[in-house]
Amino acid sequence: MKIAIASPDLYTYGSMVIGGVLESAGFDVTLTKDPDAATATDADIILLSLYSTLHLLDERIRNFASVSRGNKTIYVGGPVSAYPEIVLGELDVDAVIIGEGEESTIELLENGVSEDISGIAFRSDGEIVRTEPKPADIARPMPLIPDDIQNQSIRGANVYIETHRGCIGACGFCQVPKFFGTKIRSRDIVDIVMELKEFKHRGVRRIAISGGTSSLYQYGNRKSVNVNAFIDLLQAIAGVMGPRNVSVPDIRVDYVSEEMLHAIRDYTMGWVYYGIESGSDRILKEMRKGVDSEANIHAIELAQQCGVKVGGSFIVGYPGETIEDYQLTKDLIEDMFLDDIFVSIAEPIPGTHLSELVLKTDDSENPTFMEHGGEYRALKLTESEARCFDLTLHAQMCKSVPSILTDQLYNACLDDARAQGRDVRAVTRLLQKYRRG
Ligand code: SF4
Repeated sequence: MKIAIASPDLYTYGSMVIGGVLESAGFDVTLTKDPDAATATDADIILLSLYSTLHLLDERIRNFASVSRGNKTIYVGGPVSAYPEIVLGELDVDAVIIGEGEESTIELLENGVSEDISGIAFRSDGEIVRTEPKPADIARPMPLIPDDIQNQSIRGANVYIETHRGCIGACGFCQVPKFFGTKIRSRDIVDIVMELKEFKHRGVRRIAISGGTSSLYQYGNRKSVNVNAFIDLLQAIAGVMGPRNVSVPDIRVDYVSEEMLHAIRDYTMGWVYYGIESGSDRILKEMRKGVDSEANIHAIELAQQCGVKVGGSFIVGYPGETIEDYQLTKDLIEDMFLDDIFVSIAEPIPGTHLSELVLKTDDSENPTFMEHGGEYRALKLTESEARCFDLTLHAQMCKSVPSILTDQLYNACLDDARAQGRDVRAVTRLLQKYRRG
């Protein structure tokens, strides 16, 4: 049977993994970034891999699912599968593969939709039938690597590779624990190295490690951070790719140590990225981060002492965030001399605790919709957009190496804040449309 996997705009690691699993099961598989190119193939079935809620509102993808598909069968997988009712409500597709799809995809392709297959959702007699997903076996064949993978850049990396699944955190805005579970399942280091060698052989030069928070590798074996396993992992990856071609994007501030930071300094590009999110303990609690500002500051200072550059990500416009909370975030950024800073407007991904909070919050009290009446009112921004814009500008001035504020930088920050505001409003409206009860 011929299968085309369409992963819009970028080859996600998940789409490559599913491609490899299907190929090894005997299917004839192609992988493309262009859904219309998938329709043009002689594939019997198209697997549409979607990683963003915004894909469900993207006219190109909606048109592909309803018109350009012709009479081909379409199954949707990827992170959006965590809310299959919305996927089936928005896109004209035949089924959704929920969660980890390695096993259910094969069953679905071999048998068609059936209540006997775990981890799928489909329409039947006007109702949505949904079966419970099961975690997949983390050992698997080599991914399907496209020929032009070396041309891809996701924040500087050709590909994000997976070392483990799951996260023990419970951050209210994040869907990782729900998607992959709260038990850490780690891949064998030998498999990871073999996969990296294949990626390198196929042209990949720079990789990043994905998977919740990188330092949880092999966490499950001891119920605490496995420092040696993490160091061995970085050393092995650096041995294949070269340290300057490896980055470790995300680490929780409460699961990092001096030894781990020394390994990050020695075996990677030498950066650590923390999800700091807010300078307000009240908002950190609301976000269910499980850490306070003191822990954030300690982890930043520890990394700086270890010679590791620190990137921090921040979220503005969380429901209930007051001007005082926001000011605490600005103060923290001013004090910490971070090397890079990312600012996001709180996005209510369906199924997260944040999405429940947003649904309980009237638009008149939700910063995503509240009109900004302060310093930037002439720009006609919402409160979330104004905070995103203001914090990004502030961050540029407070970094360890401050940027010069040019018109170009000002406009780029403003455009980014407006784009984020527009996207988060669209996702919130979608969420409200499918509000239960
Ligand atoms: S620590 Fe990271 S991956 Fe884990 S729940 Fe929080 S944001 Fe998600």
